[in-house]
Amino acid sequence: MVGDERSASGAPVVVLSARLGPVGDEERRIDGAGGVVRSEALWSLEDIRERGADAAVFILGAVEPFDAAAFEALPRCIAVVRRGVGYDNVDVDAATRAGIVVANVPDASVEEVSDHALALLLAIERRVVGLDHAVHDGIWQRDPAGIAAVRSSIRRISELTLGIIGFGRIGRALARKARPLYERVVVADPLAPAEAARQLGAELLPVEDVLALADHLSLHAPLDPGTRHMIDDAALNRLRPGAVLVNTSRGGLVDEGALVRALQEGALLAGLDVTEHEPFPAGDPLLDAPGLVLTAHSAMMSLTASAELAQRSVDAAIAILEGRRPASIVNPGVLSAANLRATALASAPR
Ligand code: NAD
Repeated sequence: MVGDERSASGAPVVVLSARLGPVGDEERRIDGAGGVVRSEALWSLEDIRERGADAAVFILGAVEPFDAAAFEALPRCIAVVRRGVGYDNVDVDAATRAGIVVANVPDASVEEVSDHALALLLAIERRVVGLDHAVHDGIWQRDPAGIAAVRSSIRRISELTLGIIGFGRIGRALARKARPLYERVVVADPLAPAEAARQLGAELLPVEDVLALADHLSLHAPLDPGTRHMIDDAALNRLRPGAVLVNTSRGGLVDEGALVRALQEGALLAGLDVTEHEPFPAGDPLLDAPGLVLTAHSAMMSLTASAELAQRSVDAAIAILEGRRPASIVNPGVLSAANLRATALASAPR
């Protein structure tokens, strides 16, 4: 064990965010490794401060606010582990300044998120949700013309261009799955090589061109200061009439005010797995926006992915408690910092 972040029994405490479900078999491995695991709601800074004060390691979901103020309030914390790939809810610079390791699980749900993006694109183009509502609301029986209106502007998928913004693990998996279905696949990513796109039958283009060419557009860039609100009024205006926008990455990529305006004008249809506030408050304009399908941050889920995410995030927590390096460290520079709290990790083999 490393550090002196211990419970009353002397064992180091691992706090599992209640957002990730109750403590189960995977998390009980932490007890077996000499730690103590506890589930806590970590919705706010006050929650984190009050319920995590004794924690050595946190295992987190995608929205718990681990900002600079949170790290300042956690003198015993040696590491946080994101149970997933995106870590935009963690102020990594603040963690590094405090000597705290940030680990993540980068590739457990690549298949699920790319499936979910494709499912939304196809379901929205085929008007699956609108038709279902029309049947359940009795419109089919009362007014067959009402059904015709719902399906009147469906296009043939094989005549459409798919645009993908962010050509990393998930963007590439989507391109691989979608290529046989679409006429053309165009992608934008400042760091991806054109050859990677070519190998999947896609074309790497500037983002403005992808916006202008896409009938269907799927977002897979991470949320950071450079991508926040990348889909704003100007980007939405570049899209083709009747475009379908799908976001399974992070809500902050889309300016939701601009999206609601565009939906109200009937300029596009959209599917959001992720939103700026999760869950968003009652009365949020997204709930009444026409042509919008919402799936409650579920794209990463499957029985397999859920088991892998639990297993690998617990593996990371146990590695840190035992003084070994976890498989994926977001801030590796912290390992050579003079104030590294998990001191054994400095000399641990890679
Ligand atoms: P990744 O790191 O493999 O790929 C991200 C890609 O985005 C990289 O290639 C990067 O170069 C690119 N990128 C960065 N800035 C860009 C920009 N301005 N324009 C275009 N591309 C840009 O990540 P991944 O595994 O593919 O995951 C992508 C995102 O999906 C994650 O950051 C995460 O937030 C989100 N995600 C969501 C869920 C969910 O349940 N909805 C689950 C997993 C991941």
